[in-house]
Amino acid sequence: MITLALSKGRIFEDSLPLLKAAGIEVLEDPEKSRKLIIGTTHPGVRVVLVRATDVPTYVAHGGADLGVAGLDVLLEAEGGLYRPLDLKIANCRMSVATRADFDYAAAVKQGSRIRVATKYTKTAREFFATKGVHVDLIKLYGSMELAPLTGLADAIVDLVSTGSTLKANHLVEVEKIMDISSRLVVNPASLKLKREGLRPLIDAFASAVEARA
Ligand code: ATP
Ligand code: MG
Repeated sequence: MITLALSKGRIFEDSLPLLKAAGIEVLEDPEKSRKLIIGTTHPGVRVVLVRATDVPTYVAHGGADLGVAGLDVLLEAEGGLYRPLDLKIANCRMSVATRADFDYAAAVKQGSRIRVATKYTKTAREFFATKGVHVDLIKLYGSMELAPLTGLADAIVDLVSTGSTLKANHLVEVEKIMDISSRLVVNPASLKLKREGLRPLIDAFASAVEARA
């Protein structure tokens, strides 16, 4: 049996067409069912539903053989994962945002200091270190837009797609850090032990990604 870890929401939705191209259909809708293990039309493949940030953990420790995770999540996670494929789904970017009246250019002058709230502390630390800016990082788990509005931080590092959430909270995107998409991640031991089952699956995903490009 091959176990695929997915998170509910956009990654699940965007993975469905790729699974379909690999000849796999999921037998239950996670928005309607409370089941965490879902069968598929492929007798040798099942899907487990986990939090987006837990996908790398499941796959690295063999709780799942493979999974789909955002680059944002992978950059914060431990290593030990084989990453064969950019699936080019759940596309967005990671950016710095501030209040419109905040002088970001002055705040990131070499040797200056800035307070940044984010869920992505590792990525933010590296980004500002490269710029030579001292950063006081404040770890948050959600509603990051609130931080500059309440004075908790000068800036946030967060994912942006349309920018409407920033706009609704009177924040402006001041610098893009990187483009983000979701990646296929595979447990290295599984790839050896279940190669016969996994290789065709990975190849089918690769063809489906290419066909969509
Ligand atoms: P939750 O929103 O339930 O707290 P989460 O933020 O970890 O959990 P999702 O919002 O489903 O989970 O995001 C999962 C992945 O989808 C992220 O890791 C990222 O790669 C991608 N993603 C997040 N926000 C966006 C967005 N606005 N547009 C496109 N992709 C996004
Ligand atoms: Mg989210």
